[in-house]
Parts: sequence; C-alpha cells; structure tokens
Amino acid sequence: MPRRNSNRQIHKSLPPKIPKIDNETVIDPFTNEEATLTQILRSSAKKQYICPGCNQEIMVKTTHFVVVPKRYPADRRHWHSACIKKALKR
Ligand SMILES: [Zn+2]
Repeated sequence: MPRRNSNRQIHKSLPPKIPKIDNETVIDPFTNEEATLTQILRSSAKKQYICPGCNQEIMVKTTHFVVVPKRYPADRRHWHSACIKKALKR
C-alpha cells in the first residue's frame, strides 16, 4: 500500500453543518450567574417566549437559545440566537 501524507488534511473535511450547542457553560448576561447555554432547535420550540435581550417575542418554531443559571434553574431565560451572541460578546 502506498503511504499517503494526509495528516494535514484532517481539519479541512469538517462538515458544513454547525453542531448543536448543548450545555455549554457561560456567564448569564442577565443575572451574571454561571449558567448553561443550550440551543433549542426549531422542531423543539413549541412555546413563545420574550427575549430579555430585545424584549421581542421569540416565535414558535424558531431556533433559539435557553440560558439556565446553575444556582437558580427556575430563572431560565430564552434568547434569540442573535441576541444571546451579542450579549455574550465582551
Ligand atoms: Zn432578542
């Protein structure tokens, strides 16, 4: 078998699909508490929420994010994808 020098190519074949964000630890921009960030895919988004970033509704069947403070899980908040990305950027 011919030896192929393909080690450098590994990172070039990543799938174009963006992986789902699940249980990523972040600092909740709303409460400043350590929280978990989870993406809610549109197929699982069955309720309407108010986004704390812009005070607009997150419509049903919209991919968005939920931020769950670790100490106060009841204070979870749902954010638009764009709003949470803006809020998490320092
Ligand atoms: Zn928003």
